[in-house]
Amino acid sequence: MSGGPAVVMRLVASAFSVAEKAGSIVRTVLHSGELGIVEKTGANDLQTLADRLAQQSICASLSRSFPKITIIGEEELPAEEVTEDLIETGHSEEILQKTCPAEYSRLKEEELVVWVDPLDGTKEYTEGLLDNVTVLIGIAYGGRAVAGVINQPFYNYQLGSGAVLGRTMWGMPGLGAFGFQLQEVPGDRRIVTTTRSHSNKLVTDCVDAMEPHEVIRVGGAGNKIIQLVEGKASAYVFASPGCKKWDTCAPEAILHAVG
Ligand code: AMP
Ligand code: MG
Ligand code: MG
Repeated sequence: MSGGPAVVMRLVASAFSVAEKAGSIVRTVLHSGELGIVEKTGANDLQTLADRLAQQSICASLSRSFPKITIIGEEELPAEEVTEDLIETGHSEEILQKTCPAEYSRLKEEELVVWVDPLDGTKEYTEGLLDNVTVLIGIAYGGRAVAGVINQPFYNYQLGSGAVLGRTMWGMPGLGAFGFQLQEVPGDRRIVTTTRSHSNKLVTDCVDAMEPHEVIRVGGAGNKIIQLVEGKASAYVFASPGCKKWDTCAPEAILHAVG
């Protein structure tokens, strides 16, 4: 067999650029002022035009470059032709230069599953809590998360006009995690991060049982994992069904990547 980057590295490198494109779509829809909100199962389970366009962009772009992978996106959308302006064909050259961990180097395209949450934290997106929003692209093999890309489209938005918005983090167990500075909560403070829009008595009882020094209630599974790796929270506690594999795959890969 010839050399060249492993399939999974090419996929992560593409997913990086595809997540950035999705992040820019999420910003564009917000700035257009027409969010196109639809209630899925209820008022706390929303879909916007940004969720729809970002998913179309991610799924169509990745399946064009990797026709044999299985891609599962959160949103149920009618099968329709995706317009060419939504397609991203670029990749991160930096990721392509990394050495693939030996255990993943022989994975085949048809063995990989991509879990897509085109916009995690939709409720918060509609309420203007913009740093809660992430785009999540997780890559799984054999039921395990092997790589993850998280784009945070509105990173830096509190800095006001002129700030460059958005950042992309990625990670792979055995290789590392990139695009942020790994930090731990100082001292032995127990800071618990949990849901703000999907709470109930069990969820709050469980958080209380941890006897935390502080509780941070914010939206988004991706956002809460960012709080863990950046040392803002010491545990993410959410004793409830609700999070799906498109919420957890990319974050799980990054958590494993940092140990
Ligand atoms: P949250 O921490 O409430 O922002 O939830 C994290 C992710 O899980 C989001 O993508 C939510 O849409 C999803 N989620 C959590 N709980 C529920 C629920 N009860 N119903 C629907 N989606 C949920
Ligand atoms: Mg989500
Ligand atoms: Mg979502």
